[in-house]
Amino acid sequence: MEVEFCPSCSAVVNTNYLYCPSCGARLHKGPDFVEVLDRSLGALEVRQNQQLLHRLDEMLCRLATLEEALDAFEAVR
Ligand SMILES: [Zn+2]
Repeated sequence: MEVEFCPSCSAVVNTNYLYCPSCGARLHKGPDFVEVLDRSLGALEVRQNQQLLHRLDEMLCRLATLEEALDAFEAVR
């Protein structure tokens, strides 16, 4: 386990820690929160759009089936 000193309170801390357990100061710069949030929301939006397109495909497929059934019904009459 590697250790370092907290730049804020000088406590000895594990280098893997993102924040000092003694004073709460940030020890290492992690990814920017807004950046992470934007990326996650962007991925979510893409997935939602894919689901919408998939649903639209299903509806078009069902519509085609209904149209065929209607054509067959009209042909019988
Ligand atoms: Zn500290």
